[in-house]
Amino acid sequence: MLKTDVGTTMIKTRFAPSPTGYLHVGGLRTALFNYLFARKYGGQFVLRIEDTDQSRQVEGAVENLLNTFTRLGIDFDEGPTQGGEKGPYFQSQRLDIYHKHIQLLLDANTAYPCFCSEDRLKEVRAKRQAEKLNTPYDRHCVSIPQNLAIEMMKSQPYVIRLKSPESETVSFKDAVRGEVSFNSDEIDDQVLMKTDGFPTYHFANVVDDHLMGITHVIRGEEWLPSTPKHVLLYRYFGWTLPTFAHLPLLLNPDRSKLSKRQGDVAVEDYLAKGYLPEALLNFVALLGWNPGDDREIFSIAQLEQEFSIDRIQKSGAVFDVEKLKWMNGAYLKDLPLEKLSEIARPYFKDAGLEIPDETTYQKIVDFARKRISLMTEIVSESSMFYQLPEFSPEDLDLLRKKSSKTVLQYWLDQVPRKPVWTEGEIKELLKSTTQDFQVKGRDLYFPLRLALYGSCHGPDIPALIDILGTDEATVRLTRALQK
Ligand code: GLU
Repeated sequence: MLKTDVGTTMIKTRFAPSPTGYLHVGGLRTALFNYLFARKYGGQFVLRIEDTDQSRQVEGAVENLLNTFTRLGIDFDEGPTQGGEKGPYFQSQRLDIYHKHIQLLLDANTAYPCFCSEDRLKEVRAKRQAEKLNTPYDRHCVSIPQNLAIEMMKSQPYVIRLKSPESETVSFKDAVRGEVSFNSDEIDDQVLMKTDGFPTYHFANVVDDHLMGITHVIRGEEWLPSTPKHVLLYRYFGWTLPTFAHLPLLLNPDRSKLSKRQGDVAVEDYLAKGYLPEALLNFVALLGWNPGDDREIFSIAQLEQEFSIDRIQKSGAVFDVEKLKWMNGAYLKDLPLEKLSEIARPYFKDAGLEIPDETTYQKIVDFARKRISLMTEIVSESSMFYQLPEFSPEDLDLLRKKSSKTVLQYWLDQVPRKPVWTEGEIKELLKSTTQDFQVKGRDLYFPLRLALYGSCHGPDIPALIDILGTDEATVRLTRALQK
């Protein structure tokens, strides 16, 4: 594996999404790795919106993206200031820069205009595909003399293509995969500038990475085949290559490529389902990176310290939702109670449940958090404290048993005596019930739990009395006895 020596260079990374309307988990992984790498070395992290494909504009996509990053706590360092605010870069606002740069390539004859019609290109593509040729374009326009081409550009629609060299090796060092080489005969004369005057991804991406001083390009493996085209552009401009690091593919548990069909891929959907940002980031950080030991729980601050490109793996990383759930549960159990109570508040509100006094509310949250792995489950795990229990016929049989009635009656006599019961006092009460009435085990716990909680299984009796309080416990014991 290649070591990433960052030396004394100021690190600058970027996340460069095309705004599709939502943030793909793979996009989040890319953004996070770039963010962590920049933070680790005190560098800069840039957000650049690659919106040069006019046919793929999605209304509100950028706002949504920014909003999602804010919720995740990921911030960006740089962008042009807009109305006093530091915003992302938008490629659609940088067309002049691309035009200036494409002219440099035309002048140097390392790019050329192509006048082929869509129909011709389609035909050529199909034919070359059938012949199993490496590149889709037959370089029909490459031989048009430059002065003639300049004339033709005045009256005909055209695109500008990259002029790929013949039979050369194009190679670069990838920080994850080592030396990567391509034969230039397999590199298509890629369109760099479209008829509508907008650059393609390849061109704008390279120009911007250079002009913005990006030192490390960390991105998904799907961009690896495009990289030789980028390397050629760096060469033609005479620019130094950044360090490339291509992240392994994300896979479904059956090792197929992660797809929408097998589950959610939008980060927004995970947040809406009640995954905590911290848990999601922790989980995503481990998709293709590992700390070198078996630790799995990392705060973002720890990740900023520990992340390194050297520990990124080449092989695909499995996106295992069960693991994410487990991790989220672990975070829920660990979060400071006040913070969790704040996070839980809207869930109770949306469910129409009135929050009782703060102390009781926090007790409920503390109880429920031990039994959930998603925030969305918190309401159902707490609802027994808000609703009087419903009894099934079997429950009623149990409540009507002689020993049950004895226990419940005794507790109904005792519980109202104290406005607040400590855990120790409730334990004493349980003990004295056993001693005085010879009932123990399930004969003791089941009727009490059923009366107080609506189920034979659940929290300890002291915890139940503590959350319900004397008044509510009395109401429930009375009600159960009357059944
Ligand atoms: N705009 C590309 C994307 O949508 C950027 C790829 C890259 O990082 O170079 O992912």
